[in-house]
Amino acid sequence: MLEAFDQLGWLLPLCLLLVGLCVGSFLNVVIYRLPLMMESRWRAECCELLEVEREKQDAPLNLATPNSHCPHCQAAIRPWQNIPVLSYLLLGGKCANCAAPISPRYPLVELVTGLLTLALFWHFPPSPALLGAMLFTWTLVALTMIDVDHQLLPDNLTLPLLWLGLLFNLGGTYTGLADAVIGAMAGYLILWSIYWLFRLVTGKEGMGYGDFKLLAALGAWMGWQSLHMIVLMSSLVGAVCGIALMLLQRRGREVPMPFGPYLAAAGWITFLWAEPLLRAVPALDIWMQ
Ligand SMILES: [Zn+2]
Repeated sequence: MLEAFDQLGWLLPLCLLLVGLCVGSFLNVVIYRLPLMMESRWRAECCELLEVEREKQDAPLNLATPNSHCPHCQAAIRPWQNIPVLSYLLLGGKCANCAAPISPRYPLVELVTGLLTLALFWHFPPSPALLGAMLFTWTLVALTMIDVDHQLLPDNLTLPLLWLGLLFNLGGTYTGLADAVIGAMAGYLILWSIYWLFRLVTGKEGMGYGDFKLLAALGAWMGWQSLHMIVLMSSLVGAVCGIALMLLQRRGREVPMPFGPYLAAAGWITFLWAEPLLRAVPALDIWMQ
């Protein structure tokens, strides 16, 4: 199998792109449904705790049921209309049944997931490290979009990501196990400390617990040595984007802004390009000696 890949040098990148596109299609489902599933569970738990009858039961919803349908006319989406990116282009961005516009976000998530997966080809040989990098990338895409939509980083994604990072580093796939464990602890505690300091001084909540867990997960994958670069990059880009959004949309300073997407992007970039980044910005190299 591996020899065949060697002879057909283009086959592996093509496979990665196609797998990435299909996974992107599945991530669209996760991004849309996981928060709804969580809300439905929270509502049920609240009713149980308050001992009140629920007025109306939520329709059963999980990642597999119901089948995908048009939110406008409820028509089921046929298999040929579900091909990543291609179907959107063939359908001209409209529902085949009622011609309601389909959000360009769906093919965009598919395309970005495909391209990010393809980018891994130049960093990892066919190996468990490549498989781990794919899982890492896909989880970050889902977390980013859910945080953009709901200002929420579900434990269902951040915690498995953390444990998976430690699992891969048991054998030192990306960094030594000790560095990974310290990375997970330090990642959580850095943001936890900033959160409480900010809260004690201003009485406001600057970020959420999901952010601590995400940085802990990134530390578990890359080791504590990468944390300062991730924090620096995400805060810098987050501050610039936040100010730009405030100016462009005339949003108030009180409108909450998700920090997860910046953490995820900085984490992914550091995961792939930590060394060239350090060479380009030697000032980052304080702890790397
Ligand atoms: Zn429709």
